[in-house]
Amino acid sequence: MGSASNGSVRSLPEHVRFAIVGSGFAGIGCGIRLKQEGENDFVILERADDVGGTWRDNTYPGCACDVPSHLYSFSFEPNPNWSRTFSPQPEIWEYLRHCTKKYGVEPHIRFNHAVTEAAWDEEAEVWRLDTEHGSLTADFLIAGVGPLSDPRLPDIPGIESFEGRIFHTARWDHDYDLSGKRVAVIGTGASSIQVVPQIQPLVKRLHVFQRTAPWIVPQRDRRLSKLEKRLYRLFPPAQLAMRAAIYWMRELFVIGFMHPREGGVNEKLAHTHLQRQVKDPELRAKLTPNYRMGCKRVLISDTYYPALQQPNAEVVTDGIAEIKPHSIVTADGEEREVDAIILGTGFHVTDMPVAEYVKGRGGRTMADMWQGSPQAYLGSTVAGFPNLFFLVGPNTGLGHNSIVFMIESQLNYLAEGLQHMKARGADVFEVREDVQERFNGRLQKQLEGTVWNSGGCASWYLDENGKNTTIWPGFTWPYRQQTRHFNPADYALTARRRAPQPVAA
Ligand code: NAP
Repeated sequence: MGSASNGSVRSLPEHVRFAIVGSGFAGIGCGIRLKQEGENDFVILERADDVGGTWRDNTYPGCACDVPSHLYSFSFEPNPNWSRTFSPQPEIWEYLRHCTKKYGVEPHIRFNHAVTEAAWDEEAEVWRLDTEHGSLTADFLIAGVGPLSDPRLPDIPGIESFEGRIFHTARWDHDYDLSGKRVAVIGTGASSIQVVPQIQPLVKRLHVFQRTAPWIVPQRDRRLSKLEKRLYRLFPPAQLAMRAAIYWMRELFVIGFMHPREGGVNEKLAHTHLQRQVKDPELRAKLTPNYRMGCKRVLISDTYYPALQQPNAEVVTDGIAEIKPHSIVTADGEEREVDAIILGTGFHVTDMPVAEYVKGRGGRTMADMWQGSPQAYLGSTVAGFPNLFFLVGPNTGLGHNSIVFMIESQLNYLAEGLQHMKARGADVFEVREDVQERFNGRLQKQLEGTVWNSGGCASWYLDENGKNTTIWPGFTWPYRQQTRHFNPADYALTARRRAPQPVAA
């Protein structure tokens, strides 16, 4: 039964054709696409009170995208007003809000509606969803929850005893003034290296705890001139051409990741960057990665190395042994007193919470089915989970190009699938298990020998079983091709009956 809810919370319908979970690039993009396909019977269930997903949650100083904005945006909604080559978080968040309004998606959103359970009802052949503010049923469930949404907190002994301020980069505490404080940053991933140059000038002491040195290449970010913006406004094909150029340039990067070798062009570029920016040989040695480039996400920054060399900053490479109420103790026994700890320790990617609360046939959760190794067909559909569509699902992540490209490919596939179902009078789709198995067998073979699997590092691209269940294994244009057409032979398509009947092929 749909329930009315209080205050500013909009009521839920009892039943919808599509329930989309999440309102980041994936969820909003999906809402827009459904409307373009003439589908208006949908809700977007959002746990927070605004749209934007990771671009709403990550408000830390310096947060920006490391994919140029001309490409990191919807193809159908170019923005001539980006202020820089690599847009800062507030602009990307604003862009998503703009798209939500412009394309009429806003009325479909139910904010503060965290989904607590989504279960496939085998009798009625619908999804039954429970949210914080009531329940509903849906013909189709679309998960746009994103892999970078749930912060991972490190399991360091004594962490709960810390009496200063402690927060994750994705949950920045804006009420806490870092000025004049002794601050520890744990982690040196994409988030931390953006934070460090911003806070270093403010704080009294900055201790950066590095477990693994990241590969960093020059960023070359710049303001976009008035003339450029004017050109893009008056002559949109110019921006499309720029977008295409950036896309193909980034596609080239992946060659080095698919066929890694020591001392490739990009590794040389990063070494030169390090040598130019860091003169002290001891610090340089600490900052030199000991695995192949691309094994972890390649970072871009012109300001991180300089910040580390300021008199109030240090890089700590001894492992953290313990956190005490007012200090961090490293394995060598040294104790550093700190007022605040910033955790740049990443997200739950391969152990995403959605897998725990989505239940398919037989009431089995995805987590139960996957046993630590997520898999889907084309990163989108999962055997045992009828009428479920995943956006940015298993093995659709990228280390070299824009995820928005992958999302739009998936939306094409979804739209094609829906058209096929309509044409055949089908209500329920389920990918064939053998098709999913074959697809993943091929995909895992392609991943063999790539830098993500054999680059000599431990990364979140690999799951708890050591399997790469996050990365798409190569160029993105073949993914676009593979998702261009929905092949009904890959699926069981049935009409909704008490006893489902196969639909004539
Ligand atoms: P991340 O890449 O997962 O980095 C986490 C960092 O924390 C790593 O340096 C990791 O060390 C360290 N760490 C984790 N647990 C630790 C522990 N117990 N003790 C010490 N160190 C620990 O997380 P992130 O920086 O938030 O980035 C996540 C992803 O978000 C990125 O890969 C990227 O896809 C995206 N992102 C993009 C941007 C951008 O566009 N500019 C910005 C931020 C994030 P190890 O390396 O040794 O594991």
